[in-house]
Amino acid sequence: MSFSLLLGLPAGLQVLSFDLVNNVLLIQVASTASESACPVCQCPTSRIHSHYSRKAADLACGGHQVQLILHVRKFFCTNRDCPRKIFAERLTAFLHPWARLTTRLAEQIEAIGLASCGRLGARLGSRLKIGTSRTSILRRVMKLPTKTADKVVHLGVDDFSFRRGRTFGTVLVDLERHQIKDLLPDRQKETAATWMKTHPEITHVSRDRSSEYASAVSAGAPQAIQVADRFHVAKNLSEAVQQLLARVLLESKTASQGAEAATQAKGASLLPLEEWRPAQEESVKQTIATRRAERQERYQQVLALSEQGLPSPEIAGRLGMKARTVREWLHKGVAPDTRPRRKYRSEFDPYAPYVLKRWQEGERSGRQLWREVRYQGYGGSERMVYRFLETLKTTEIVTSAGTARLPHYTSTAAVWLFMRRPEHLDEIQREDLAAFRLAHTSLNTTYQLVQDFLEMMRRREGKRLDVWLAQVHESGLAELFAQGVEQDKAAVQAGLTLPLSNGQVEGQVTKIKLIKRMMYGRAEFPLLRQRVLHAL
Ligand SMILES: [Zn+2]
Repeated sequence: MSFSLLLGLPAGLQVLSFDLVNNVLLIQVASTASESACPVCQCPTSRIHSHYSRKAADLACGGHQVQLILHVRKFFCTNRDCPRKIFAERLTAFLHPWARLTTRLAEQIEAIGLASCGRLGARLGSRLKIGTSRTSILRRVMKLPTKTADKVVHLGVDDFSFRRGRTFGTVLVDLERHQIKDLLPDRQKETAATWMKTHPEITHVSRDRSSEYASAVSAGAPQAIQVADRFHVAKNLSEAVQQLLARVLLESKTASQGAEAATQAKGASLLPLEEWRPAQEESVKQTIATRRAERQERYQQVLALSEQGLPSPEIAGRLGMKARTVREWLHKGVAPDTRPRRKYRSEFDPYAPYVLKRWQEGERSGRQLWREVRYQGYGGSERMVYRFLETLKTTEIVTSAGTARLPHYTSTAAVWLFMRRPEHLDEIQREDLAAFRLAHTSLNTTYQLVQDFLEMMRRREGKRLDVWLAQVHESGLAELFAQGVEQDKAAVQAGLTLPLSNGQVEGQVTKIKLIKRMMYGRAEFPLLRQRVLHAL
């Protein structure tokens, strides 16, 4: 049975003996190779000059720290032309000359260093019987060679934040290999440009919309095609839409406050348009009233039993209810309500302002009005239109000073109605979207332009960009979005045409954040960079 095999020692090393001293396993090892090659001229020689021993820490064994005591030799170089006369025998990759620990132990310590921070790494090491210190872990991690010189053809550039979002760095990603290529300590034009100059093989750079990275690429990789990342383009578009919506919503709010005041001055006989709904059928009203009365009675019974001190499961059993329902009712302490939580909405609601406007203009034909709203996208029944007209005959309906009702949305929430594909909206969102589009011609135009742009993006129809820009000219998006696109047109067009995108960079940034968090926020940039580039 060979102990060398058990300990995984390379050929040529033989275990002589071992001994446990102060919980450290001392293993005496001798080199048995009959010859060794001179490190200078590579000539093999078997002429031994002398024997000596060296120590090296090795992987833990059986729960003990291990110290190898290697009995090795010095050789004469027999090549007369070689300047080196005597040399110490080499143990190649297993143990480098002058190293105080074996390569395999060093690799373990590096792995610990990459997976944890220095201090924690030292604690983990001691638990695993690897004697090491925080500084030596950090030193090893910092010494790891990086492969940033490898060629990169499609480069993705983006920024990321470290030190609690106050300092920003730049992440460079090899988009073909899905690998972080390098991290830079800032997001300055010069820093990124200098890096790119060392990579003349770059053909495409995908970047955000900032002028900083745009000019970095122009300066550092002038040969590369710049591609404005689609995610960032879409983000700019949604920001523009949000600003437009915020404006319209603010106007509409101001106007409706005025109208409310006017209504109050006139008296309460007026019905605000947003509260209009068709009258409920008598039978429906009856059913709702009956159910409510039944529940109210049931609630009183629950309450009475509870006041007698009966526990919920007991009450539930007596009344044939679920214990959970009983607990809920008692917890709320009020009679459960049967009214629907959400305001009753009909598919007709978004079109009510339009019909009202036509009514005020003198149109009295229900059939005609139904045709008109149907043309605008109303898919409900003709009967609903008539019911609305019935109300108009008897009640004076007020609208917010001519402005149609807009759903209660913040501009942030409303943006998504505009940006999402219509088929991904639910029924209510679709109604709300229709309300926005009907409320303002400018919003309707904006919606069509936005959807067209997103379509162009999805289908990679960058060639249509010029036509789109010509259309956008008159709309509110011109100033808020299209002007920026004009200034960066070649890159945006490339983004709308080429499959290249920074989509994966988002994931890489998440990885950086994760590594940073494991370092307890004390991320010194050079260490962070090493750990990201060597992440397991
Ligand atoms: Zn030699």
